[in-house]
Amino acid sequence: MGKLPPFIASILQKRTDPNKDDFNHAKLKNWYKWKQLQRKAFKRDKFLCQRCKKDFKSEKQKLTIDHVIKASDDKTKWFDLDNLRTLCKECHRHINAVNDQNA
Ligand SMILES: [Zn+2]
Repeated sequence: MGKLPPFIASILQKRTDPNKDDFNHAKLKNWYKWKQLQRKAFKRDKFLCQRCKKDFKSEKQKLTIDHVIKASDDKTKWFDLDNLRTLCKECHRHINAVNDQNA
């Protein structure tokens, strides 16, 4: 297992409140599920940004995942690989800015 992001590390450290613990476990499980899905989506899209079509194979940290159908509209779409597309962070920011204007 690679290095854990700080928020996961802090979840693992703060195990005082049993109710909170349940919640954090669910969060942790979802996080792993999400990471796996993210990797699948990147691979499927061959590390190309689906908007600007640039190849980010050597700069994977600049990639992010976009939900085609916003998960806030349909929660079942959150972990649906068909609903995910690879975007660079630049395009992702742009698309979200446009969506916010339309909302
Ligand atoms: Zn892009």
